[in-house]
Amino acid sequence: MDDADLLLRLRVDPADLDPAPERLRPADAEHRIGLPCASCGLPGYATRIVRLADGCRWLDTCRDHMIASATFQAANRPRGDILTDLREAAADAGVALTVVIYGEAG
Ligand SMILES: [Zn+2]
Repeated sequence: MDDADLLLRLRVDPADLDPAPERLRPADAEHRIGLPCASCGLPGYATRIVRLADGCRWLDTCRDHMIASATFQAANRPRGDILTDLREAAADAGVALTVVIYGEAG
C-alpha cells in the first residue's frame, strides 16, 4: 500500500492536506499536534508526512486514525515487519517507542 492508498482508505482528499517538507523534523511536527484530524476532524494526536505523486503533504490524525493508518500499512507489509511499522509510526508521531514482547518461555 502506498500513501495514496492510505489516504483513500482514510477517506482523505489529498487536496485538503498542507504541503510538507521531504523529511519530518520534530519541531515542525510538534506544531501540528492538535490540528484537526484529516479524516474525522477530531483534535490531532499525531502527524506524519505522506508522499504523493505531486509532492509531500502533512497527514494529521486523531489517535484512532493514527492507529488505523498503522494497521492499514501493517496489513500490507510482509509478515514479520510490524516492528518496522511501529517504529515508523512512532517516529512520525515524534514519540518514544518501547516494545514489550510477551510470550511463553521455550
Ligand atoms: Zn480521526
